[in-house]
Amino acid sequence: MYKLDEFMAELERKNPAQPEFIQAAREVVASVIDVVNKTPKYLNNKILDRIVEPERVIQFKVEWEDDKHQIQVNRGYRVQFNSAIGPYKGGLRFNKNVTLGTLKFLGFEQIFKNSLTTLPMGGGKGGSDFDPTGKSDAEILRFCRSFMTELQKYIGPDTDVPAGDLGVGGREIGFMYGQYKRIRQENTGVLTGKGQTWGGSLIRPEATGYGALYFADEVLKYNKDTLKGKRAIVSGFGNVAWGAVTKAAFYGAKVVAISGPDGYILDEAGVSTPEKIAYMLELRASNKNIVAPYAEKFKGAKFVPGKKIWEVPCEIAFTAALQNELDGKDAEKLIKNGVKYVIEVSNMGCTPEAIEAFQAKKIPFAPGKAANAGGVAVSGLEMSQNAEHLKWKASEVDDKLKTIMKNIFDACVREGKQKNGYIDYVKGANIAGFKKVADAMCELGY
Ligand code: GLU
Repeated sequence: MYKLDEFMAELERKNPAQPEFIQAAREVVASVIDVVNKTPKYLNNKILDRIVEPERVIQFKVEWEDDKHQIQVNRGYRVQFNSAIGPYKGGLRFNKNVTLGTLKFLGFEQIFKNSLTTLPMGGGKGGSDFDPTGKSDAEILRFCRSFMTELQKYIGPDTDVPAGDLGVGGREIGFMYGQYKRIRQENTGVLTGKGQTWGGSLIRPEATGYGALYFADEVLKYNKDTLKGKRAIVSGFGNVAWGAVTKAAFYGAKVVAISGPDGYILDEAGVSTPEKIAYMLELRASNKNIVAPYAEKFKGAKFVPGKKIWEVPCEIAFTAALQNELDGKDAEKLIKNGVKYVIEVSNMGCTPEAIEAFQAKKIPFAPGKAANAGGVAVSGLEMSQNAEHLKWKASEVDDKLKTIMKNIFDACVREGKQKNGYIDYVKGANIAGFKKVADAMCELGY
């Protein structure tokens, strides 16, 4: 029999200085431990001990030359966490705070998220402590080239298929895919999130944000409620936030705030016009990582420097920036201001204290590994299209995405419904994602 505190103490001892990984693991283990203890095959297979251990961790040196002809050195990683149900699949994150512990947390989350999509994808994650802020396109190109020169040794269309994440969008995927092709002479789907003329899937850029809104729509419908007319806030201003704002506008919800590392934008008229939504992409492409210019461009919008977006009263809060961006204090503010639903679109966007606060008030809380699975789901669909050398219509991809998000929602309800009727989406997502991977691991032997 497994005991949560004992198991976690040992995991912490083995993985010192990796608090994010420990946080992600504790959440999953706490959710599934009863199921494991009641299932002899999971116990006999030592399933928890095995699932928290990455199959492989690759660390490498990335040397590149900046525009001043100075040599720069960064660290590159790929965590190949679990391949029980398919090739490793998960993004690459370029951010100055990236450590092995960050990528282990993201890789671990990815295992269960990918399992939830119903597609055959294992879990992995990679990236670098390279900071894209303020870099020129030429510097980004040289970094990506050097990064892929090493990474290409460990990946392949049936082995490990990276994609984008924070700091890695279409431009970076292009530079990396170009280098992969140059070295390997292969036009395979080794990366997803590719450009539309060289193997990318329609809807992939929008997929994470769209998927989150499809999920939110299900949550609200389940509560006999509607997105129409709801006042919402979305943290971040990157690719994910952009997709979320676009689809929120489609459903008639009014997004009144977005944010960046410099503060937040309050736009009571709504961030929902095509011009404003398009401007989010421009802001991101500037490599400056700030939202302040939005308020200069659009009259009536206000920039609030240095403050967190969670002080803005709203009915629905979407996290779409970083892990642990919404903590216990932020949760209290949102609750005081009458938040009705919280949809985590960033990976582990809320701290355990925040989640506890929402759940204690019976506020529906959708965890990232369910709500943001649309991105990797369409990556999986991109892999299918690449494998059959075809490109599907946008409507075909979008319909499949919608079905996948509905399936994830149903799985969360099935596994997460409490006796009092409240849906614990965290537990539901963890148990549903876990069972499939654990069963596969039992069947595959050790
Ligand atoms: N980085 C995204 C995520 O967190 C997408 C990964 C992918 O498409 O492989 O799920």
